[in-house]
Amino acid sequence: MTPLQLEGHACIRCGRAFIPGSTSAPDGYSDDGRQLFACSAGWGCSAELPEEKP
Ligand SMILES: [Zn+2]
Repeated sequence: MTPLQLEGHACIRCGRAFIPGSTSAPDGYSDDGRQLFACSAGWGCSAELPEEKP
């Protein structure tokens, strides 16, 4: 995982850095308890992959 991902500034799934206008959602925690984020709402890898259904 990159420093950007560990700081919540990049998606933990695709590694894309978040920019103004991008959407992200909390997606778990790192080993040391930091909150991690992933693309959401049709942006980034969220737009490329089918939504996960529970
Ligand atoms: Zn992503």
